Amino acid sequence: MEQKRILGARKRIALVAHDNKKKELMDWAVYNKTALSRHELLGTGTTGRLIEESLDRSVKKLLSGPLGGDQQIGALIAEGQVDVLIFFWDPMEAQPHDPDIKALLRLAVTWNIPFACDRATADFLLTSPLMHEAYCCTIPDYSNYIKREMR
Ligand code: PGA
Repeated sequence: MEQKRILGARKRIALVAHDNKKKELMDWAVYNKTALSRHELLGTGTTGRLIEESLDRSVKKLLSGPLGGDQQIGALIAEGQVDVLIFFWDPMEAQPHDPDIKALLRLAVTWNIPFACDRATADFLLTSPLMHEAYCCTIPDYSNYIKREMR
């Protein structure tokens, strides 16, 4: 049966940017400092530290992406502990942790959370009225997959 998950008014936003995209994410975050102040932030190691410095506020820092940080965020999404993902990945450069990146994007879709992979989409997302109110998120019916696993 389809399930629901409430994304609260104060969202838990996970931030990740590849090296060539970090400046773009910092510019975006500084520009949106006030809007972001209403939410909890977490991020992969380096991205999280840079956001912390840029916004002068505390950010929960996970491992660096290539060391498992992307997988940690994926696990938090699956556990319902991340509401929104802002992931500026680099389309022009291969990454050593490409499977982790793919897995993270897959989990964002699997659990139907809002996510943005570029600045324009991040702008649309952050300015949505739904960012500031509780949102009832539908989780697709995965009961067949669970049953198959148990056989
Ligand atoms: P970083 O990781 O924030 O530690 O640089 C991001 C990534 O490359 O996935």
